[in-house]
Amino acid sequence: MEQVGIITSEARPCPWGAPAKPINQCSLTEVMSEELARELQLEEESHAFPGEALTDEGPFLTSENLDTSSDAVLAQMLQMQFDKEYDAQLLREEKKFNGDSKVSISFENFRKVNPCEDSDSSGDEVDWQDTRHDPYKADKPTTTPKRGFIGKGKDITTKHDEVVCGRKNTARMENFVPEFQVGDGIGMDLKLSNQVFNALKQHSISEQRKSARLHDKKEVSTTEKVVDPKTRLLLYKMVNAGVLETINGCVSTGKESVVFHASGGSMEDQEVPDECAIKVFKTTLNEFKNRDKYIKDDYRFKERFSKLNPRKIIRMWAEKEKHNLKRMQKAGIPCPEVVMLKKHILVMSFIGKDQVPAPTLKEAKLGLEDSKAAYSQVLELMKQLYHQCNLVHADLSEYNMMWHDGKVWLIDVSQSVEPTHPHGLEFLYRDCRNVSQFFQKCGVPETPNERELFNIVSDLNITSDNQVDFLAEIEALEKINEAHVQNHSKKVATFQRDDDGPPRLYDE
Ligand code: ATP
Ligand code: MN
Repeated sequence: MEQVGIITSEARPCPWGAPAKPINQCSLTEVMSEELARELQLEEESHAFPGEALTDEGPFLTSENLDTSSDAVLAQMLQMQFDKEYDAQLLREEKKFNGDSKVSISFENFRKVNPCEDSDSSGDEVDWQDTRHDPYKADKPTTTPKRGFIGKGKDITTKHDEVVCGRKNTARMENFVPEFQVGDGIGMDLKLSNQVFNALKQHSISEQRKSARLHDKKEVSTTEKVVDPKTRLLLYKMVNAGVLETINGCVSTGKESVVFHASGGSMEDQEVPDECAIKVFKTTLNEFKNRDKYIKDDYRFKERFSKLNPRKIIRMWAEKEKHNLKRMQKAGIPCPEVVMLKKHILVMSFIGKDQVPAPTLKEAKLGLEDSKAAYSQVLELMKQLYHQCNLVHADLSEYNMMWHDGKVWLIDVSQSVEPTHPHGLEFLYRDCRNVSQFFQKCGVPETPNERELFNIVSDLNITSDNQVDFLAEIEALEKINEAHVQNHSKKVATFQRDDDGPPRLYDE
């Protein structure tokens, strides 16, 4: 029986495959197709203007080899063209949306065409995800993405490690959102997933609002130069008790503290130096937020951390500095001597003379001979700190080392952690990088690079010859150690406690 309206592919002459023949019958789909209507129109015109036939067509329609006899194939071809156009539009929108922004939002998930098939797709849209199991990317060679590492990192092979990747993304938070300091400052350009970035951005905005409200309350927070009434009262008490003779003035207003010079008085059971430095830890939430990473994973303080409010955590900082200084003192490292601790106020010996603090290594502008001497001292100090004090400074740089009496003195150790801290080795690496870069700039010829210095200080033998692999190895070690600490936390805590007893929060 003859079919009416619907024709089989065998019987039906194809409009594109055989344009010369007039078309009498077609399928319902074809009747509905605008493309077909346009085609028919062109065919008609081609008869009138033979030289210009079909010039308006998409490239796939002009190919002589294509089998256009099947409806299914035709439908697929049309769909593919539609998809390509859709994707091209999507790409334009993506470019417009992202502009020159450092953080790009990828529209890749909305693409119709598989990126592998699409040769002119956005080749630079390589994400920092594990793509091993991604069917779209399975047949692509696993080369290093075009973006991601800056400079020397082209030979990196560790990007496919999901864990390493995740950690490095985290490290970037510091660059994107300055308030989120995660501590390692690894100089790599990795792409933070959009979802995470957006969540962070939201959080950052709400934190900024909160901290703006806090800054309004001047009477409860220590600001740049003025101390709040509670701090003032504590300082008066120290003077009244005769521990301090006078408080002379501000030596420095740092990120996390205000430092004053004071003339020492006397105490019953302890010598008080003639010149003292008073470090008043800032009590704004903002300052505290940047620092919690150093304390919350420090097992010595972990127990108490979760239960405390920010004010108490600030006190813990002061307390931590005291404990760390005491350990250093014991090992004979040149550093301020602790006089007393009251809440968030640490009194220590003054490094300098006649109310003038000694210069930091940054300020000292040492000549080559002194620089060489300083370097060999710093190397010794770092080893001592690591092996004898079981500490990593975690903010070691030319800004936190002072040059006094021909010696290097270490200061600012409130953030210092034990090497087994979950990020302890990363902090050590960063310290090594600062030290190495500084002394290289000073022209000290024997300065090793940061990786060599790390191995010298830690006695570890990490062999990677580039930063990214080196850091990956460090992180792997930290992970192993973390698992170990978790398994044996009680045992480790007992063995590694401070010699002067477990840290206590100062109580009045
Ligand atoms: P920053 O953010 O600048 O690192 P901070 O809040 O971490 O500051 P410190 O680094 O401990 O605080 O101290 C800041 C400055 O105060 C030092 O650079 C130094 O000039 C001075 N200072 C700190 N402690 C002493 C001390 N014991 N003797 C003399 N000066 C000191
Ligand atoms: Mn400092």
